[in-house]
Amino acid sequence: MKNRSTFFILMKICLKFFQIANNYIGEKRVPDRKERMHMRIGIPRGLFYYYYYPLWTKFFEMLGAEVVVSKRTNKQIVDSGVKCTVDDACLPVKVYHGHVVDLKDEVDFIFVPKIMSIYENEYICPKFCGLPEMVKSSIKDLPPLIDTTIDFYKSKKKLLKTVQEIGKHITNDKNKIKFAFEEALKQHKSYMGHMKSGILPTDMDGNKIVYYMDTYKHKQKILLLGHPYNIYDEYLSMNIIEKLRKNNLEVITQDTFDTTLINKKAEMMDKKMFWSFGRKVLGAALYAMEQEDIQGIIYLSSFGCGIDSVIADIIERRTRRNSNKPFILLTLDEHTGEAGIDTRIEAFVDMIKWRGKNENYISTYGKYVSTR
Ligand code: SF4
Repeated sequence: MKNRSTFFILMKICLKFFQIANNYIGEKRVPDRKERMHMRIGIPRGLFYYYYYPLWTKFFEMLGAEVVVSKRTNKQIVDSGVKCTVDDACLPVKVYHGHVVDLKDEVDFIFVPKIMSIYENEYICPKFCGLPEMVKSSIKDLPPLIDTTIDFYKSKKKLLKTVQEIGKHITNDKNKIKFAFEEALKQHKSYMGHMKSGILPTDMDGNKIVYYMDTYKHKQKILLLGHPYNIYDEYLSMNIIEKLRKNNLEVITQDTFDTTLINKKAEMMDKKMFWSFGRKVLGAALYAMEQEDIQGIIYLSSFGCGIDSVIADIIERRTRRNSNKPFILLTLDEHTGEAGIDTRIEAFVDMIKWRGKNENYISTYGKYVSTR
């Protein structure tokens, strides 16, 4: 009898030892909730992460939470996203699911807002509206989601109420939430300000500049258009920004232009563009067509994206009709091979350089050149 109970005590000690060792030996130690001082909020590195990461992070941190961002997109994240979503979903939505999977065992909450509209009288893609439901039905064993509805279609008056709703997951102190949001807004403005000066999210870690941009100034300029989650995700975009820069080209995006200029140009369309992304990208393209120092336009689109299929087509037609700038449309999905994209980028870059050297930017083959 005595031997049996000694055996069980020894077993328990061994088990505890293995549990502790397992926690420490992994990629990093994940303390359990009781051990943690702070609540952990997970932010998936996908979709609107590239616009709002500094704002969300500052907000949650000011409330005393610890923010955990999923890893940079990699093959494993893409594969796990593809595995748990329906075939018809676009690549960025699949990848977003992969980021949620990456976070699910590490955090107390995952921030997956239900975004309906971010500007008055404009909508964003319907997939953003159904995102929390999609995530909940596709991924098992999730921690609770912070899935507050963000809808500013009628007015931005609801902004503070929305912020309070998000913040109450961490604290009930309304003043603290208000103050945290004010500080987060400052962070957001500075981040967007960086983008206006040509420093792209790929050059920043949060709000900190990690890349010195000035070396690229005064060279030939290329306008890179596309959803932020395509163009700024280094894995999905196959490092297109870096590839163009290595060819001595300065890369600007729709986020580099002044919003007033973009809106003015977008208003020139016969019908109001009611998608926020469409308005922004179209306005930027129309403005760029008139700028002599911009030598070409690249549109990076997602296969299966309804908005891209309309906007890219309008931009391509307008570029051909109104300017002599080369235009190229690159479409991404989970099967896109890097070699194919590289070949098209190389051909495009060669054409830009050749035209700059030999033709004073005017094609010998007609009014416009498209590599589509
Ligand atoms: S806008 Fe297009 S790429 Fe973005 S989530 Fe919607 S369908 Fe996908």
